Amino acid sequence: MRKLIFFLSFLAVSSPILSAQQYDLVLEGGRVMDPETGLDALRNVGIRDGKIVRISSEALSGRRVIHVGGLVVAPGFIDLHQHGQEMESQRVKALDGVTTALELEVGAPDVAQFLKAKEGHSLIHYGTSASHAAARALVFGVPLPPGEILPKTGPATDQPATPEQIMQIEQRLISELDAGGLALGMGIQYTPGATRLEVIDLFRLAAGRRVPVYTHVRSSSRVDPGSSIESVSEVIGASAITGASLHIVHINSSCLRDAPECLSMVAGARARGLDVTTESYPYIAGMTFINSALFNPGWQEKEGGISYSDLVLPNTGEHLTKERFDELHNSSAPRTVLIFSNSQEVLDKVIPNALVMIASDGIPGHPRNAGSYSRVLAQYVREKGTITLMDALRKMSFMPAEMLERSTSAASQKGRLQEGADADIVVFDAATISDHATFEKPMEPSVGVHYLLVAGTVVVNEGKIVPDVFPGRALVGRSGSRD
Ligand SMILES: [Zn+2]
Repeated sequence: MRKLIFFLSFLAVSSPILSAQQYDLVLEGGRVMDPETGLDALRNVGIRDGKIVRISSEALSGRRVIHVGGLVVAPGFIDLHQHGQEMESQRVKALDGVTTALELEVGAPDVAQFLKAKEGHSLIHYGTSASHAAARALVFGVPLPPGEILPKTGPATDQPATPEQIMQIEQRLISELDAGGLALGMGIQYTPGATRLEVIDLFRLAAGRRVPVYTHVRSSSRVDPGSSIESVSEVIGASAITGASLHIVHINSSCLRDAPECLSMVAGARARGLDVTTESYPYIAGMTFINSALFNPGWQEKEGGISYSDLVLPNTGEHLTKERFDELHNSSAPRTVLIFSNSQEVLDKVIPNALVMIASDGIPGHPRNAGSYSRVLAQYVREKGTITLMDALRKMSFMPAEMLERSTSAASQKGRLQEGADADIVVFDAATISDHATFEKPMEPSVGVHYLLVAGTVVVNEGKIVPDVFPGRALVGRSGSRD
């Protein structure tokens, strides 16, 4: 009897262990790389219920086993800055290794509507900040038309807000954070009427709600007053005054030739204990809406001293003249335009900098939408050799996950190739991965991502998008989830 009880209790204890050895999916024999712990070794990865359950050098059995010998197995890339949220953009992001793509720079005009529209329809994970520009437009009586993220230039962008209007903007942003906004998105260059005090007031709101501010700073000019140096000083100052965490988006295009100086300012702020981070995309041209306030009078100086012909319409390749510019700038149609304002020399200094995360600023019409991550792996890791593969992975997954942890504790399960982490995984060939998108063919997918897993579901299989799977889930802010 005692023997039987012993045997039964042994079974009771051991059966969960036995069943635990069967996984939904096993990635077998890949080069597993984790930027947080530095693991870089041949391992098998066992996945169950959307999680990485086991990483082992021993053989694992699974309902599906994918042999990934010769390929890198890394945390899926987390894009903090992605405007194109429709399915066509999601597909090219997935083929570029991205498992999470968030609209944080500007933010969606209506957080609840954004989250509802994507629920059950998303290939990859999604989320958004609360939009200062949209809240301002609403309070000024010109709410953004459906589908648009930036206001056309006008009083809502160019005029200072009264104290009452600032209070109303704050009320709107609080309700947007309650709806699940991950952060406060402030494209200050798109709302030049926002005073320094309005900026500080909103940083204070973000600090009070314990969410970071993502910001496109006021100007890219090289000339004071109104330089990029002054613009970066403004937001670092606002962070110091209020205690809000600050993320400066696309420091490449916001600071142009002064980007190395701007990076030293970020480094200095961090050395003084401020929570300031930044990002870059690996292209010499920017892109935005031509009827926005970014192109208000004085734009040429604010964009680093460029001319009309440095503005190019995507797809047609048309270089603008003054007449054509005036026509498009005054139009209510939100057309995008490429801005050739930067140099390869600047990028080559910015991208390898240890403070710089990779974020695409992806938008249809610009190759950065489809190619940013593969381009860094091809150009900087493989060709120029100025970034190690592990450091590139850190810039693409672990650093953005750490940044996101300021907004949601769910991010602590992302950006890591570790037991217990979410099974958001990219499997790629480091020897061949490359971007194929160009300014002429901006939606050409990257090549070299063999498999992509989103919450354990295979969305890229043998280099091809799997049809009809939508495992992408919302990432919502602390206020929305109450965590
Ligand atoms: Zn921007």
